[in-house]
Amino acid sequence: MKLKQVSSIPDELLSIDPKSLHTLIPEPTLFHLPGKQKKPLFISVLLHGNETTGFLALQKLLIKFRKQELPRALSFYLGNTEAASLGLRRLDHQPDYNRIWPNTELTDSNETKMAQEILNIMANKKVFASIDIHNNTGLNPHYACITKLEPQFLQLANLYGRLVVYFTRPKGVQCGAFAEICPSVTLECGKPGQAHGVDHALEYLNSCLHLSDFSNHPVPTQDIDVYHTVAQVKIKEGTHFSFNDQQSELLLDKDLERMNFTEIPAGTQWGRVINHAEMPITAINESGKQVTSKFFTLTDNRLQLNTNTMPSMLTLDERVIKQDCLCYLMEKIKL
Ligand SMILES: [Zn+2]
Repeated sequence: MKLKQVSSIPDELLSIDPKSLHTLIPEPTLFHLPGKQKKPLFISVLLHGNETTGFLALQKLLIKFRKQELPRALSFYLGNTEAASLGLRRLDHQPDYNRIWPNTELTDSNETKMAQEILNIMANKKVFASIDIHNNTGLNPHYACITKLEPQFLQLANLYGRLVVYFTRPKGVQCGAFAEICPSVTLECGKPGQAHGVDHALEYLNSCLHLSDFSNHPVPTQDIDVYHTVAQVKIKEGTHFSFNDQQSELLLDKDLERMNFTEIPAGTQWGRVINHAEMPITAINESGKQVTSKFFTLTDNRLQLNTNTMPSMLTLDERVIKQDCLCYLMEKIKL
């Protein structure tokens, strides 16, 4: 696999749907378009093939500026178009395109080399800022993620909304790699397929293209809520869990999904344990340490929160819970 670079866009790109995109752009491709301000804005979309909001927003942005000069040069990367053609996050033989970037924990591959090459190219172009666009599965509000708590990063995140998540794991994400050379964010635009998700991302990209500079002043604290991920919660392997099967070992509460980005008090019940004496879940902090008992207890077969916390990414999708995790737990950061 070789990185393809292109300096014009085919007309078909403006109308093609994400599933057919692969017929037009069969390999990962980096586009460069000129604009009034020379330092380019960088946008990556479809690092996860089933997360289409970023591509649809980018398409609308390109249509908007089709007949006029861009206010700033724009470079954009269309990632895993092959997985997109099948509506999948990635194909079985592929690495996750949002774990391949410099500082990754994956072994070297064509994909990790490609990611390094893109970063080098954009560093040479003195990239102005970087935006990577994603969707998630549960009932989550829109928010931006950053890996540095510096004023420019907070400003870029705050332009999308007041909700910001600061994280340092997983490694090898696009956002973390670009953070070494420019202000960088990941947008989480809710579930794929929602028109208001596309509109919000489009509005944001348009604002970023019109930004002339970042200020070094701190973001006013009343305008922003920054949370830090303190644990990833998984269900122990082999534990039979469900949201409705009364025979499962762990019967999870169907209301869990409503708890995303809400302060949940200690004592709140998350589910019931049936014919199973052990704690059915594990919580691991960002340095890989077990912190289960800090957050959860098992009392009279009820799985309960031990402390006040704020979950994110809770989903009712049992497949996603198995492949990825049940949720993340967060704490508010005082800026
Ligand atoms: Zn994603």
